[in-house]
Amino acid sequence: MGELYGLIGYPISHSFSKQYFEKKFKAENISGCSYQLFELMQIQQIEELIQSKAELKGLNVTIPFKETIIPYLDSMDESAEKVGAVNVIKIEGGKLIGYNSDIYGFHNSLLKLLPSDFSEVSGIILGNGGSAKAVRTVLNVLGISNITVSRKPSENVITYNDLADSTQIEKAKLIVNTTPLGMTPNIENYPDIPYDQVTSSHFLFDLIYNPTETLFLKKGGELGAQAKNGLEMLELQAERSWEIWNS
Ligand code: NAP
Repeated sequence: MGELYGLIGYPISHSFSKQYFEKKFKAENISGCSYQLFELMQIQQIEELIQSKAELKGLNVTIPFKETIIPYLDSMDESAEKVGAVNVIKIEGGKLIGYNSDIYGFHNSLLKLLPSDFSEVSGIILGNGGSAKAVRTVLNVLGISNITVSRKPSENVITYNDLADSTQIEKAKLIVNTTPLGMTPNIENYPDIPYDQVTSSHFLFDLIYNPTETLFLKKGGELGAQAKNGLEMLELQAERSWEIWNS
């Protein structure tokens, strides 16, 4: 029996992960392994999936199940505990163990964007969903103070209006977009922030990887900011998933 890996999510018609792993298996002569997409309407279906596929060794988890999967796991490692979200599951002896490799991907990709001394940098996180949690965890680990901007104000979270009425963008230097604004096919969208405060000493990181240059990154780039998309983060989290499944 071969080894099976896969992705659960909904909808998952366009998956980076399947292409990535199929290419990896071929390029590295990894035989007997396959990667499949499992579109689940409801997270409860995970139980049936695990029971019906004895050859499953590992899963990636995407929208909208990164948090709702948690009650179905037997345990979580430190990475997933820290973030409160799971994007990798290792299946061992019938037990499901949750991990978070998004933080590994974002951490390592961000370090390549920032200068080696980033002690003067603080961060603004746009959006307050699942991936914002991972981004916030990494910034806190790196000692980068940060604020989150959301359409809904809450404790330690400001609104886009608050942001527009302040000089926070000018001061912060690192802006991370975790919203889906600008993602294919709605490439004309972008987060509503005061771009006139962006300068050549800013760093813009967009978690979106399709298109390669969102309007958010384009606008920042035109103002001289250094800009990076989410592709490297995605590749790093996929590689880390493979390490987790095979460790
Ligand atoms: P999510 O849980 O749905 O969160 C996205 C957040 O964006 C929402 O919670 C919302 O925050 C904000 N948002 C949504 N629609 C908006 C709108 N019309 N205007 C303003 N804000 C809006 O999704 P996610 O899992 O965090 O993923 C977000 C993006 O990151 C997606 O594009 C995804 O593909 C990408 N991503 C990339 C990687 C990678 O490896 N590169 C990994 C994970 C995710 P508020 O309600 O607080 O405003």
